[in-house]
Amino acid sequence: MDFGGHFTIGRPLELKAALMKRLRGVSGQAVAVIGSGESGVASAKLLLKAGAVVRISSSGPIPEPFKRWCAKHRVLMEAGEHTADFLSGAKILVVSPGVKPSSFPIRHARRHGIPVWSEIELAWRMTSGKFVAVTGTNGKTTTCTLLWEIIRRHHDCHLCGNIGNSLAASVLEKGAATWRVVEVSSFQMKYISRFRPDAAVVLNLSPNHLDWHPHLADYYQSKLRIAECLTPRQTLILNHDDATLVRRTTKLRARKVNFGLKKLRDGITIAGDHIREVQNGILQPQPVASLKHYRLKGAHNLQNALAATAAALALGVSKKAIQAGLDAMKPLPHRVEDLGEAGGVRFVNDSKSTTAMSTVAAIRRFDSGVVLLAGGRRKQKSFQAVFGEVRRRVRRIVFYGEAGESMLKEFGFFKNRTVVRDFEGAVREAYRAAGPGQVLLLSPMCSSFDQFSSYRERGDAFRRIYGELAGKG
Ligand code: ADP
Repeated sequence: MDFGGHFTIGRPLELKAALMKRLRGVSGQAVAVIGSGESGVASAKLLLKAGAVVRISSSGPIPEPFKRWCAKHRVLMEAGEHTADFLSGAKILVVSPGVKPSSFPIRHARRHGIPVWSEIELAWRMTSGKFVAVTGTNGKTTTCTLLWEIIRRHHDCHLCGNIGNSLAASVLEKGAATWRVVEVSSFQMKYISRFRPDAAVVLNLSPNHLDWHPHLADYYQSKLRIAECLTPRQTLILNHDDATLVRRTTKLRARKVNFGLKKLRDGITIAGDHIREVQNGILQPQPVASLKHYRLKGAHNLQNALAATAAALALGVSKKAIQAGLDAMKPLPHRVEDLGEAGGVRFVNDSKSTTAMSTVAAIRRFDSGVVLLAGGRRKQKSFQAVFGEVRRRVRRIVFYGEAGESMLKEFGFFKNRTVVRDFEGAVREAYRAAGPGQVLLLSPMCSSFDQFSSYRERGDAFRRIYGELAGKG
């Protein structure tokens, strides 16, 4: 394998052998990369460095600069569709997160017994530094950002994965040896085999992405693949408050560390203002850190603090760094973000909430008097998980978007509801319905793609309308 000649991006020499072992089978092999987005481009470049014979198959057009790169490196391309002819001969398929299990390349691989790797499986095989992965249905971005805030105080640390830039792009940019905090989606975990971070966090499990996974069990299995891949040499950090997660993780090989707000026998919890370890049911006398200056509100954000702290401890990060990271962490936009008041109505932007459980977390932040704005493109079959919280604290619901009508029917038990298809009309209707002292909460439980290009664009539209109503814009 002439791996050493191709891959010289700054990792210590003695680690070469370990990396070569992980990458065995790639050098000289025909590997097809499916997708020509950011993750596909970075995967192709990494594979070339590892000495593979790369080809690219993209269902859409291939961006011009990448086309030029492919031509320069004699990488074969097909665009507009995936064909059996083009894929035949490939010994491994590397897939981008957008490639669905029902797509032609995956069916082709299955029929011919070709291994499928997600981009993180490939990129992980080319890393040698400390590596922590965070997954779960809700809270990944918040927890990853907090963990990065903690670690970066003492180590060169890169935040990557689903959060923005792909892991493959991070390896190209930063080399193999840096520390990494990686946000991992269920799409990427469906196709891992040896992906083994030093620590992995699973925050929670609830229904999601049923527009991608064939059924709920497939979504849960994909999320838990990460846990199954770990050995006793790696640490698995689990939310003990999540009954679904606890039930599904009893028989695993990894070293387990629990965190939770409810009573625990062993793990990490909160007592008063402090994060503390519990051993054999006894709170340890020395706190790990104080939460006095932690600015993220709500019980879910306390769970995120515990998860990040447990991961940092598992990696050997000091308590001092944990404290500094907790104190420095700022609330992220579009996640229960308080915009301010207009006519006595408080506007709260939770555009990032695309599941029923994240909307439960948002509603719980307010005692009562919530006017809820929900809708968009449906990803879940049922929103039942939010019904209890709606009964307790919500005064009125305005549904909007593609899922609006079907949500109106599903929430039939709740009298005070209406639907307005267009987003702006729905915000204005919700504002008309809200009284002084009430909270107008945008917490959609759906993706934004029916009317927007992203949750950010949706949240920004909400902010603009708020500005107009408040006379600020
Ligand atoms: P993800 O990256 O998993 O989508 P984010 O941190 O971006 O998670 O938060 C997404 C939504 O979930 C926001 O509405 C946020 O308020 C909510 N949320 C954050 N952490 C949690 C948690 N631990 N449990 C439930 N909901 C959460």
